[in-house]
Amino acid sequence: MPAGKPAGVRCVNLGEDLRCQTYDIRPAVCREFKAASDTCGASHADAIILIGELERQTRTDA
Ligand code: SF4
Repeated sequence: MPAGKPAGVRCVNLGEDLRCQTYDIRPAVCREFKAASDTCGASHADAIILIGELERQTRTDA
């Protein structure tokens, strides 16, 4: 996504299997992201809730 991934928008590189389709050449921000409990919780379900809330809080188009 040339201008970056807006909050609340699914990354175009995310496959239906929830895997990055450009993993080997993913952007630096993705390479540098480190999963942490305050961001990702303890499960996929936790991560969806926590990251979803972060995205809602940082949306600039609402
Ligand atoms: S790692 Fe980055 S490029 Fe890949 S799907 Fe996730 S947000 Fe998109």
